[in-house]
Amino acid sequence: MPRHALFPLPDARGGWSLFLDLDGTLLELIDDPDQVIADEVLRDLLARVAERLDGRLAIVSGRSIAQLDLILGPIAHLVALSGSHGNEHRWQGVSAHPARPRALDEAYVRLCEFADAQPGVLVEDKSYGVALHYRRAPAVEGEAQAFVAALAQALDLQYQPGKMMSELRMPGGDKGKAVRALMARAPMAGTRPLFVGDDDTDEAGFEAARDLCGAGVLVGHREPTAATYSLADPAAVRAWLAAIAA
Ligand SMILES: [Mg+2]
Repeated sequence: MPRHALFPLPDARGGWSLFLDLDGTLLELIDDPDQVIADEVLRDLLARVAERLDGRLAIVSGRSIAQLDLILGPIAHLVALSGSHGNEHRWQGVSAHPARPRALDEAYVRLCEFADAQPGVLVEDKSYGVALHYRRAPAVEGEAQAFVAALAQALDLQYQPGKMMSELRMPGGDKGKAVRALMARAPMAGTRPLFVGDDDTDEAGFEAARDLCGAGVLVGHREPTAATYSLADPAAVRAWLAAIAA
């Protein structure tokens, strides 16, 4: 459990780079992930932070780049993007997209069959992953996790449990790799990374940030965690970003 308040705040001259998860960090988690959209206040905030940090701002998400473009709108082009758990990138206008494993198509069919038999369970098809969401059907959590974990083994995909969701994704990437890759390049090279996230998948980002003389910032509470600092919720993250942008 982090026990520190996050001070001093990084500012434009402070030599920090910011890596932000999206869902549960900048935006509250909602029942249907397809309905998530960044409001104008958040878009404006991210644009101002990117300017204050001279472009040293990245969104690092389990969402695909295509989803991030839809959710963030035009400001998605003002920040570095790492999508699909570090498996695809768009930095300074240059994109990298690996081939999608065919096993994900089979996984999608199998998860849809599972969801069809369970009212309230949703399937999210991503570029490099397929996720089962059961926020509206919490009673199936154990069964859903076991099903997805078994499917991961059968199809040679990576199993990733999350908050009221389980995901199958392309093996090989994680958010820590995204941080390390971005920190090796201008404009982030030579600065200290702060990684802000709320979920299991963010732990790799916290570890990478710590290893690179930076730190992780956990949104909410979890234990154990590699994060050094914590913020209570997305509203607290936004207030902290507003102070950076001011
Ligand atoms: Mg998250």
